[in-house]
Amino acid sequence: MNDSPLALLGGEPAVAVPGRHFAWPPITDADRQAVARQMETAVSIPDRSGVIADLEDALASCLGVRHVVTTCTGTAALHSMYAAAGIGPGDEVIVPALTFHATATPLFHLGAHPVLADVDDRGQLDLDDAARRVTARTKAVVAVHLWGLPEDMDALTSFADEHELMLLEDGSHAHGATWNGQRTGTFGTASAFSLNGPKPLSAGEGGFVATDDTELYYRVLLHGQYNKRCRREIPVTHPLARFAVTGMGLKLRIHPLAAALARAQLTRLEEHLTGRQVVAARMCAALEGMPGIRLPALPVAARPSWYALPLRYEPAELGGLPIERFLDALHAEGATEADQPGSTCPLHTHPLFQTPGTLLPGYADGQGLPAGGFPAADYVHAMTLKLPVWHHENDVRLADAYATAIAKVATHAKDLL
Ligand SMILES: *Cc1c(COP(=O)(O)O)cnc(C)c1O
Repeated sequence: MNDSPLALLGGEPAVAVPGRHFAWPPITDADRQAVARQMETAVSIPDRSGVIADLEDALASCLGVRHVVTTCTGTAALHSMYAAAGIGPGDEVIVPALTFHATATPLFHLGAHPVLADVDDRGQLDLDDAARRVTARTKAVVAVHLWGLPEDMDALTSFADEHELMLLEDGSHAHGATWNGQRTGTFGTASAFSLNGPKPLSAGEGGFVATDDTELYYRVLLHGQYNKRCRREIPVTHPLARFAVTGMGLKLRIHPLAAALARAQLTRLEEHLTGRQVVAARMCAALEGMPGIRLPALPVAARPSWYALPLRYEPAELGGLPIERFLDALHAEGATEADQPGSTCPLHTHPLFQTPGTLLPGYADGQGLPAGGFPAADYVHAMTLKLPVWHHENDVRLADAYATAIAKVATHAKDLL
């Protein structure tokens, strides 16, 4: 296989099938029927009934939590979670410097400050750096299970306890992942998940908040689910019940057709996760020990959701070949779905985090970002090669072909120098 010259230099490509090679979510007849049925049943649901109740009950039972509230997006779920957790003006929340921006941006709309902490060599929250950023105003720390690889939740739980911080989770990459057998999204006071198109569980567009805390649940309802839902669920004797009609003034409900899709997808989540697990293990086995490529460290406690397979590129082992050139060669081999992470990147590179005051009144530009920057977040981001993880047995050959393509480029790297 590796005898052919690189496709970039005129050889035969390693991946013979033309792309696209990966599409998500996989849509079946069951999904089509569920959405079509929903269209005949209700296309607007103002309370916790019908498909909304079905989906929330199923998610709550899947996670083993008391309450789930669906939302129109993951961004909205994070916003509702922070608001309901009582995060307000001047509060600081520690967020990993390497994540999708929406982990942190809703905090700006609560008058709070996202405090970025660097990541470690694996791209997970660096708890020593996080500890240095704790102040008297720090309220919470957020766990993000990047690419579906669970954070070390023993370490994060101890960290939160030690500093008396609320532990919150952004589970948007990690539906169904577990740490020591416990689902991600159930370790903290509350968690928020995206149900956006490519996420392991997809509604197309959607999200949800999960919590065991009934008071927090009522506040999630008041934040983004005003009127009927609040009136029906918040006990009339509750001190906040009189706000039910307006809530906090935002309307962040999920669309029933999206809920129907997510409900149908959820019945196949375990199947998808198991399939991804098999394919990821196979790709890792094929790439083990490959020069220039490091596999993600996988503690025995971790069962990932394999939202992606993040590989670490090590240019020093390939004569200093730049990652861009490696990727060009990989694409020429037909491995067109391999890429570098785009918008999941170091947050301090976004203008909104550098000069929030330009768009958001009340924020002073140039505050909050430390002079030393976030070197590990920058490095991990710059050296990550991301592969899709297929779930279906029909795609195993494709996964093998991708591994072959990577091996081919790695072993022929000197031809590119
Ligand atoms: C996708 C995502 C979000 C935002 O979710 P949307 O549904 O796109 O609003 C937040 N955090 C992380 C880590 C994500 O991947």
